[in-house]
Parts: sequence; C-alpha cells; structure tokens
Amino acid sequence: MTRVYNFSPGPAALPSSVLETAAAELLDWHGSGMSVMEMSHRGPEFMGIAQRAEALFRELLAVPAHYKVLFMQGGAIGENAIVPMNLLRGRSSIDFVDTGEWTKKSMQEAQKYARVNVVASSAATGYDRVPTRSSWRLDPDAAYVHVCSNETIGGVESFDTPDVGAVPLVADMSSNLLSRPIDVAKYGLIYGGAQKNIGPAGLTLVVVREDLIGQAMPLTPSAFDFGIVAAHDSMYNTPPTWAIYIAGLVFEWIQQRGGLVAMEAYNRRKAAVLYDCLDASRFYRSPVQPENRSLMNVPFHLKDPALDAAFLAGAQQRGLVQLKGHRVVGGMRASIYNAMPIEGVQALVDWMQDFERQHG
Ligand SMILES: *Cc1c(COP(=O)(O)O)cnc(C)c1O
Repeated sequence: MTRVYNFSPGPAALPSSVLETAAAELLDWHGSGMSVMEMSHRGPEFMGIAQRAEALFRELLAVPAHYKVLFMQGGAIGENAIVPMNLLRGRSSIDFVDTGEWTKKSMQEAQKYARVNVVASSAATGYDRVPTRSSWRLDPDAAYVHVCSNETIGGVESFDTPDVGAVPLVADMSSNLLSRPIDVAKYGLIYGGAQKNIGPAGLTLVVVREDLIGQAMPLTPSAFDFGIVAAHDSMYNTPPTWAIYIAGLVFEWIQQRGGLVAMEAYNRRKAAVLYDCLDASRFYRSPVQPENRSLMNVPFHLKDPALDAAFLAGAQQRGLVQLKGHRVVGGMRASIYNAMPIEGVQALVDWMQDFERQHG
C-alpha cells in the first residue's frame, strides 16, 4: 500500500496513525463487540467517546467555561444560515469583512435574514489581503461582525483577532481551527466544518458564548437552535457519531504532539518551506500579500498557465495529488493542514524545482 501526499483543500488528509487506530477498532471498539458506527448515541460507550472528544477540544483551545461547544451538522454553509437565525436577537443588520469567496458565500446567505453591511473589502486588490482593522467602518448596532479567519480558496489568513468592541465577533474558521492557539474569549462565536483540519465531513463545530444563546428566531429549526442543541449536549438529534469519534482521535493526536503551540510551530516551518521556494523563484508566484499568507492553503501560479497541466501530471506521478487551484482563482493550491507532514511539503518543493529546471 502506498499513501500519497494529499494536498486536497477538503475533505483533506488525516493523520495516518488516526486512520490506523480507526481501522484496528473498526469491527470491535474496545471490546464492545461493535463498531462505533453501530453504537447507540445514547449508550455509555458512545457517550464516553463524545464527552472525551469535547473535553479534549476544550483543553486544546483553552475554551472558557462560559462557552458551549456544540457538535452539529450542516457544515459551514449550513452555519451561514444557522448563525444569523440564532444571533440576530432582534437586530436588523450584520457587519461583514469581505476577504474573498467564503465571506461572499456567507453574505449571500445572511442577506436572507438581515441587512448585510460590508464594513471593509479587499475585492479591489483581488482579495490578496485582509483589510487593516483601522479601515473597517463598524456599526455599533450590528448584531455581530462576521470574519473568515482563513479564506481557503484565496489562501488569505488573518493572524490577529480584531478588536470590535462590544459587538460580538463571529468567525468562520473552517480551514484553520486547531492549526494554532487562539484566544476564544475574544469571539462571540466560532464555527467550522470538520473536514479540513479536524476529521471526516459531516461534523460541524460551533463554539459559542453562553449569553448569545437562547434568542433564536421563532422559525429556526429545532435541530439548529443553539439553545436546544446545547440543552441536549449536542444530542437533540442523532449526532454524526463516526465523525465525532474520528475527531476525538485527531484531538488526541494533536495533544500527543504537544498541543496547539507545537502545531503552530510545525505549521509555520512547513509553510515557510513552500513560501521560501515561491519567493526565491521567478517561475512561481504567490498572489497573496506576505502578511496574510495562509499557513494552511497556499495558492500559487506558474509563470505560464499553459504549463499547468504538465505540472499537475508530473506531480501526480510523484504521488503529490489534489494540487489544482480552485476554478475561481486558477493556478495551483497546496493545502497543508495539520496532518500534512513536512516531508510532503519538501517533496512538493523538490518537484517544483525540478519542473522549473525543465521549463524555466
Ligand atoms: C470549506 C469551507 C466552507 C464550506 O464548508 P461546508 O462544510 O461545505 O459547508 C465554508 N467556509 C470555509 C472557510 C471553508 O473552508
């Protein structure tokens, strides 16, 4: 069996050791005689798995006690509707910082429920950066301020948590949650799908400050009402049990590797290998301003797009897969989430340099 280096933006690579554990436990989890997939979500075995996953997640991110951690379904795109339904709390508008494709998607959905106010945008410069905080024109009466901490398609990451005063800060962290430490207390709500950096598709993580819960719009589906989900410990409806189990194994893997501080150091080393290669070359180019270059998703362009197909084919032959950029931006994109080893990034850079020697 050969495992490739998988640069997919999501669903993305998982740590091999996690998959090995899951394989070993597939038919009989810890002597239960059952697969986790076959367990009642209300039985003692799965309740233990879910409680341990939540405890580990809280420990890794140092989630304060007055925040709820919810295991939901519907993905980040689902949350684009679920968050307004829960967090408008009688207010009429939401402030958005427009940094690219994912904030645009969030805005499109939010405008079904509220007035969308774009307080800053980097559209004019091709979404190559996060607009500086001093340029944001915030509305003190907005229900919340929405940001996307890492634009997965554009490869634009925000490295500091903006101070937005008393208005709650909401962040779509689908593609960088658990890649480095964050100060949860500065946010009203954080959400993200699991399939980028955490586990299988089907699980959505929500971290929400308790005082923001309980005022959902009356038409909110019960399964998406944070108050109801929280009151039932994320088991109002059947949760995505298998995805929660795998996520728990990933949380353990992160903890064994030294937690988020160690994860960040490793991710910075990995990303530097790739960005150094891009900066040292006149054949490849990064479209993102240096201060906002994502540690997770690294888009890059070849000097001549006519060479893209040959680059991808050669990469594939070397076991470097899923490097094609998103159709909206073109070029290449290497997604290098927590589970991508530095050896994978080095193998990619070796191929990039080979290819440049052949075609540069
Ligand atoms: C992948 C992604 C989404 C979409 O998530 P779904 O799970 O498909 O709903 C939304 N936002 C960001 C930042 C993403 O990376």
